[in-house]
Amino acid sequence: MSEETRRVLVTGGSRGIGRAICVALAEAGHEIVVNYRSGSDAAKETVELCERAGQRARALGFDVADREAAGRLLAEELESHGPFYGVVSNAGVTADGPFPAMKEDAWDRVIQTNLGAFYNVVRPLVMPMVRARKGGRIVSLSSVSALAGNRGQANYAASKAGLIAASKSLSKELAKRRITVNSVAPGFIETEMTEGLPEGLVQTIPMQRLGRPEEVAAVVAFLFSDGASYVTGQVVSVDGGML
Ligand code: NDP
Repeated sequence: MSEETRRVLVTGGSRGIGRAICVALAEAGHEIVVNYRSGSDAAKETVELCERAGQRARALGFDVADREAAGRLLAEELESHGPFYGVVSNAGVTADGPFPAMKEDAWDRVIQTNLGAFYNVVRPLVMPMVRARKGGRIVSLSSVSALAGNRGQANYAASKAGLIAASKSLSKELAKRRITVNSVAPGFIETEMTEGLPEGLVQTIPMQRLGRPEEVAAVVAFLFSDGASYVTGQVVSVDGGML
């Protein structure tokens, strides 16, 4: 792996914030592997956008909640292409509802996808990164819900708070290896995930508007940059002033 082709895996890169992260990191000179679960056409579009930014990119479909599939496909990926320089654990889902009425499936699916991905996807990539001795970057997508709590999101907030704790812990394990581990905590960002939010919500945001995926991606790109080499174990909010 040369310094020029620092390969990065972005989970949930087929659309929304993940797509914007893929494009921003491609523009910053990274080769991108775009993970997705079911949207292969959307993932192809992200690949094309990265290629238009002048970088190599390809799609890699697997469900981040499926430990066996993730482990197998990542082992094949490492075998044929070598270690990654970085990973963005971005794939996430919601299944909102009042806690007393929350079904088992809503709890399990959200925890297994959002937090499970950290174990299923990040862990297999860490030792190859360490052995490569090139430093590296790990960023997890958390949420304002993890920091403030949010009505109807006990499952989601718990999964996103877990990601912060896991990222902070891993940052301490990897600091000596020049591998930084940080979290980004978006507020309300315009993507399919926030379609159908209650009217009036915008008034609760000091900036009086939703954020754009590119505004989250720019912060991730900074954390990947050489300029962020001494930033680790942090949570950066991108929320228009909510917290
Ligand atoms: P979207 O719902 O717009 O996109 C989600 C992406 O994740 C898609 O690419 C989807 O792929 C992928 N994905 C979902 N489940 C899996 C899975 N099991 N395995 C692999 N890929 C999966 O979400 P956003 O872009 O809005 O959110 C991105 C991240 O940012 C999430 O972690 C989210 O929790 C977080 N976030 C978002 C906020 C917002 O306001 N939008 C606020 C705070 C945090 P596919 O289409 O193939 O299923």
